[in-house]
Amino acid sequence: MRIQLLPSTFDAQGVATLEQRLTCFLIDDCVAVDAGSIAIALTDEQRSKVRDIIITHPHLDHIASLPIFIDDLYPTLKEPMRIYATEEVIGLLERDVFNWNVYPRFSDLKNDYGPVMEYIPIPIGKPFTVAHLSAVAVPVNHIVPTIGLVISDGQKSVAFSSDTAETDDFWRIVNEMKGLDALLIEASFPNRMSKLAEVSRHFTPASLNEELKKLTHNGMDIMAVHLKPTYRDEIIEQLRALNIPKLSVMEPGKV
Ligand SMILES: [Zn+2]
Ligand SMILES: [Zn+2]
Repeated sequence: MRIQLLPSTFDAQGVATLEQRLTCFLIDDCVAVDAGSIAIALTDEQRSKVRDIIITHPHLDHIASLPIFIDDLYPTLKEPMRIYATEEVIGLLERDVFNWNVYPRFSDLKNDYGPVMEYIPIPIGKPFTVAHLSAVAVPVNHIVPTIGLVISDGQKSVAFSSDTAETDDFWRIVNEMKGLDALLIEASFPNRMSKLAEVSRHFTPASLNEELKKLTHNGMDIMAVHLKPTYRDEIIEQLRALNIPKLSVMEPGKV
């Protein structure tokens, strides 16, 4: 399985910068998990292939350029853009984003080939199919309805925490997996900001360290993501100090 964290900003030479401002993971160049930077950072080849997008929650850093992405492709889409989300999140996207005020309600619109956007409600705790992948969604502990995911291509399995504070359901699903090859987990704030992390329901390196004790698999790659750009260096230093084997920080742009 090929997973790329899409970059969200670029330097003057057009090279992806290390700060992760928006969240969008691209799997096997065709399935997206969240869509923060989807309109900004795909290659033309990827843009022609991505038609399946899972949205974990409606925070702007996870959906910022989704409307623009569909707008860009609007006249050329020969199949609808399929948006996989829980019923709750679909309702929020329709109410707050695709509401004719912030942006057009694409789910009501057609181009010459047919509908341009389709919602696919996803179940909780039961496997569902996205393109060539199978996935299981589980609620995590964030300030809006949010899901974590375990995604498998039949050979490899990867867990995505999305944005969360301490949680149990996610670990139950993860630990039930026969094997796990990688865990992508958030680490948003440095330890000194634990109060803010608590109220906004995110991890610090210290709370992440506690949380990882719930993980019964071992030996997989653990990639920290969603580091707030302003505190990136400080968070990395604190993650390193945890001395957790195979824990690294996922870099925007890298596969
Ligand atoms: Zn969030
Ligand atoms: Zn976020």
